[in-house]
Amino acid sequence: MAAFRARTNTSHDIGAIYFDLDNTLIETRKGDSLACRKLSEELTQQYGIPQEASSKITTTYLKQFRKCPDNASYTLDVWRTSLWSKAFGDKYSYLAKKIYERWLYLRYRYLALAPDTVSMLRQLRKKYALGLITNGPSNAQWEKVRKLSLEQYFDVILVSGDLPWEKPEARIFEEACKCLGVRAENCIMIGDKLETDIIGGIEAGLAGTVWIPTVEKPRLSADDPKPNFTIIHITDLLNILNRGPGAPELEDSSSNASDGS
Ligand SMILES: [Mg+2]
Repeated sequence: MAAFRARTNTSHDIGAIYFDLDNTLIETRKGDSLACRKLSEELTQQYGIPQEASSKITTTYLKQFRKCPDNASYTLDVWRTSLWSKAFGDKYSYLAKKIYERWLYLRYRYLALAPDTVSMLRQLRKKYALGLITNGPSNAQWEKVRKLSLEQYFDVILVSGDLPWEKPEARIFEEACKCLGVRAENCIMIGDKLETDIIGGIEAGLAGTVWIPTVEKPRLSADDPKPNFTIIHITDLLNILNRGPGAPELEDSSSNASDGS
């Protein structure tokens, strides 16, 4: 077992690992951009819509979708079709339903877990309980979980939209611990957002936090919360967990990341 050192300064074995979903386990931002880029090409090639117009339509859709991925008054399908319809404008709005379906297919093709991530989760599951803790609207997050068949990899999945709390509130981490029958100081959290995943993990008293920087936030600033580790790719987590009992204590890599190394 890995020798993560708990906040109490006592060595503890890690019992559970909590993952964030978007831009941690799956590359949501990148995948959504790629799906829209591909769709833009298809609108030009298959429907004869000029390139500039196709690009504007897909960009408009993506912007509105990111701003409001779900609207509780509608089903996901109705809401997104209406966003496509608005993005197409009067001239092409007849394509909205068909293109929504194509977008949905492309989206989940691009969001699929990478084979090395699948292999990592399977490997980790032999040793640790695994949890998925994601902030977001219930329908939109569960759609990702189901379409990407993520349930098979986790012992608990918590979506904030179903609960009275969200990250960074300690209660959502406590709920995960309760579900798994583990103590907070025997768990680690991995995620891309300092303000939710990392602060939340620290304040919930977890044994450690692991941060994956993003394009928008590539490095730590002096006043940022300090994750114990910073890794570039999610599968780098294995290197941290497999360091063995003689490895240095935590808090030795986030400082490196702050200068971009
Ligand atoms: Mg995230």
